[in-house]
Amino acid sequence: MWGLKVSHRLLRRVVVGLALASALTACAIRPPSSMTTPTSPPPTASPPSASVTPSATALTTPTVQGPCQRPPEALVTHAPGVGRTVALTFDDGPAPADLEIVRVLARYGVHATFFETGRHAVDNPTVSRYVADQGNLVEDHSWDHLYPREVPGGWTAAYLTDQFARTRAQLAATTSEHVCYVRPPGGFVDHVVGAVGSLGMTAVLWSVDGLDWKQPGSVTPDATAAIVTNATRVEGQEHPIVLLHSGKASHEPDFVVSPFRGNTIAALPQIIQWYLAHGYTFVRLDGTT
Ligand SMILES: [Zn+2]
Repeated sequence: MWGLKVSHRLLRRVVVGLALASALTACAIRPPSSMTTPTSPPPTASPPSASVTPSATALTTPTVQGPCQRPPEALVTHAPGVGRTVALTFDDGPAPADLEIVRVLARYGVHATFFETGRHAVDNPTVSRYVADQGNLVEDHSWDHLYPREVPGGWTAAYLTDQFARTRAQLAATTSEHVCYVRPPGGFVDHVVGAVGSLGMTAVLWSVDGLDWKQPGSVTPDATAAIVTNATRVEGQEHPIVLLHSGKASHEPDFVVSPFRGNTIAALPQIIQWYLAHGYTFVRLDGTT
């Protein structure tokens, strides 16, 4: 299993965006791709034609460092792989909704990446294990999911390294898989690339925001349709990373950020069907399908 992952990583060509100067608010709230044109691809992304063909160097030069691919020097904002690829990502679990989300993914034979917090992983280890056992990636979303303004003195490299290292250890112990990717809570970027890189890990943001954090507390046609619309607003991107949520880890009150995920689950089949109909291959962030 691991050898297969490595070979895919050697083929992988990630498109990275420059680290943003700062983030404004929650990962559930602020799309990181651009502050001025939030629905457009990041201005720093390479043209699609430049990002879809693996170079000879990528094929012949090992890029593996330890158990993870050598981290890039900037935040990853686009999915790996050749041709049209899309990476679905689910943040803030493990949570009960993961079980149904994984079942929907399995129905279509696709896999996704789940960014989990250490705290939730301790509380729900069987969910983390189930997500991984079904072929999905379980990755690092910090231990406490605190935003910089919630940490005395803000995020420092030492604070982040501790948060990510502890979560990585917890998730690796739970899933028996290597943990190589980090999504910083809220999409904040202060000191993230350095801290994540020092752990040999890769920091990942997103380029399409499903905005499912603000759904109502019940399934409604409008709320489900809005998530489908938002999660498929690719604006011409050939390698989108889609942000969705399987749980709630932010510390805003529930009336600000909903803990309900019924509309996310209801929207997921339509989201998958849309990407399949438009020629996308679903990939995990390590490039495997
Ligand atoms: Zn989050």
